Amino acid sequence: MASQSLHHHFASLHLRARRPRKAPTSSPPRPLTVAAVSSKNPPLSGRKLRAAVIGGGPAGSSAAESLASGGVETFLFERSPSAAKPCGGAIPLCMLDEFDLPPSLVDRRVTEMRIISPSNLTVDFGKTLRPHEFIAMLRREVLDSFLRSRAQSRGAELITGLVTDLELPRSSASPYVVHYTSGGLRRSLAVDVVVGADGANSRVAKAIGAGDYSYAIAFQERIRLPDEKMKYYENLAEMYLGDDVSPDFYAWVFPKCDHVAVGTGTVRSKREIKAYQRGIRERVRPKIAGGEVIKVEAHPIPEHPRPVRVRDRVALVGDAAGYVTKCSGEGIYFAAKSGRMCGEGIVRASEGGARMVGEEDLRREYLRQWDDRYVSTYRVLDLLEKVFYRSNWGREAMVELCGGEYVQRVSLESYMYKRLVEGDRWEGVKMAANTVATLVRCKIMGGASEGDRIAGVGSARFDRLIVKVVTCKKKKKKMMMALMMSLVSVYWFFPRSKSKAFPLMKKRCTLTTATEK
Ligand SMILES: Cc1cc2nc3c(=O)[nH]c(=O)nc-3n(C[C@H](O)[C@H](O)[C@H](O)COP(=O)(O)OP(=O)(O)OC[C@H]3O[C@@H](n4cnc5c(N)ncnc54)[C@H](O)[C@@H]3O)c2cc1C
Repeated sequence: MASQSLHHHFASLHLRARRPRKAPTSSPPRPLTVAAVSSKNPPLSGRKLRAAVIGGGPAGSSAAESLASGGVETFLFERSPSAAKPCGGAIPLCMLDEFDLPPSLVDRRVTEMRIISPSNLTVDFGKTLRPHEFIAMLRREVLDSFLRSRAQSRGAELITGLVTDLELPRSSASPYVVHYTSGGLRRSLAVDVVVGADGANSRVAKAIGAGDYSYAIAFQERIRLPDEKMKYYENLAEMYLGDDVSPDFYAWVFPKCDHVAVGTGTVRSKREIKAYQRGIRERVRPKIAGGEVIKVEAHPIPEHPRPVRVRDRVALVGDAAGYVTKCSGEGIYFAAKSGRMCGEGIVRASEGGARMVGEEDLRREYLRQWDDRYVSTYRVLDLLEKVFYRSNWGREAMVELCGGEYVQRVSLESYMYKRLVEGDRWEGVKMAANTVATLVRCKIMGGASEGDRIAGVGSARFDRLIVKVVTCKKKKKKMMMALMMSLVSVYWFFPRSKSKAFPLMKKRCTLTTATEK
């Protein structure tokens, strides 16, 4: 009984913030009484749960909106609300509905998505789009400011300030103290819960010792084009593949209201990023001739989630957690979604801000639900990146495969609606066999020119084999042949890391398990 009452006791605490060093003036942290966290979270007396969301990008604003709407006292910190996050600004169709984004936010509705191989083989990825479908292109400054305003309108208090330090609680009964500078003053705020949504260079992640992730560096120029050139990109986006534009990613031309964003990224050769940018400029030279560079920007893109994403009463979301997918480098939707899932999870666990929450609540209500929903997506894209993005022949094969209607539809569905498609079984077998054949053929033919590839001398034998597999009438035999070809290809594609490839993926993708549990 005594120990129970100890667990459930309310510790009254008035915070003493770290004394500011040379600040002209400072404000004392708002006093806060924190309830000690136990297996049965006690109700808070006379106040609501108080949350600080650090970072006002899509992740932070979505978290703040959910928290404030659910009855939690919410403070949203953003260092520069008027700045534009370096970003291509492509978002999937489902995000417009799910996040109730007004059509006016969208600069361009892209219906042609060209993917261009190292040998300039071009496939239009948009040919299987349905009449109402498109890929939305927007400017991040527009999206971010809309989401922040909406969070404010739901009751979140926006603090324009740079968070300089997060002071961790000395006991489970102490609050977190957010130290920040705003309007030239050093200030502090005591809170119960912290959501780290402060992007790839997250201070919150550092403060809780969340560990590092490998990252790509992305570089982008915004180029204003003459009207006639802009017309070409009216509803067209382009993705370029090849060693000249990136050794392990893709380069892009994405249309915006009055300009195009031309950029590239790399994990392996970050120092060469400018050379790769020259590479993409060279590939699109005639299309951007006469353009004026209006902005140059660069930023890291996380490659995989951090080893730790929840610790005590702190949760990481968006880029701070590392939620960008391989292959596409997509992070906006996952940032907003993780912010929302985390915010809603805290609201549920705290019963609308009436109770304290603890680490187990954050794991149960946010982390596990996130992993259940998205880990397989990250696994698939991780595998595709390993197979297709590491050599020019792999990229050639990928572009060829993208020409197939079934491949296109399956990829578009999973990108646009964020759901894994129930595919047709035989189409799936055909696709697997075709993938193997195309990869093998492209490997054999290496970096052949487009003309050579079309002539396809070396490919005839593989084509015949594929035709045999696909047209074989005996189902069992067909399955066996396809399976054998898949196994050969797996062996073929991981020559240097045969033994490591799968354990490595497993380690990366079961992120919660090892370090967090
Ligand atoms: C060049 C480039 C192109 C990209 N293109 C695409 C694309 O086309 N589509 C796509 O889906 N994804 C794209 N991404 C990825 C996407 O930009 C990110 O995944 C997404 O922005 C993550 O959102 P977030 O809210 O987690 O973080 P961010 O958008 O990085 O937001 C973090 C916010 O926190 C604020 N902040 C940081 N530190 C502090 C602090 N100490 N105090 C106060 N505020 C702070 C920042 O000012 C910022 O507003 C691209 C990324 C890059 C770099």
